[in-house]
Amino acid sequence: MNDFSFVALFIMKQNKLTMVTLPNDIVEYIWQFSPDHREKLNTVLEELDDYFNIYCENEMCENIVHRKDAICTTTVRIRDYRTNERKYFYCCESCMDYGTWSIGYDTRKYFRRLAG
Ligand SMILES: [Zn+2]
Repeated sequence: MNDFSFVALFIMKQNKLTMVTLPNDIVEYIWQFSPDHREKLNTVLEELDDYFNIYCENEMCENIVHRKDAICTTTVRIRDYRTNERKYFYCCESCMDYGTWSIGYDTRKYFRRLAG
């Protein structure tokens, strides 16, 4: 039990404000919950929103698409003898076609510059 074990309700009774204390079981139940839970939950919900609602990765498109509805492609990049895989999300097939071409174009340009 913490210092704030006294919880009361104020109710209107015959046009008078009356204070009613709550039973100990209910008071203990209320204090099981953290008062700053709602504030932290908002942060978590915003992070989840950022994770699930993403911008189409076609650089010419600004659509926001849900991660499960998006068309996902995987591009394997080889850099410094290490292979890393990256997923790209698109809102539709035409965006996927252009986005995939654009990424390939940039990759070819990058390797051409490395070759000199
Ligand atoms: Zn798009």
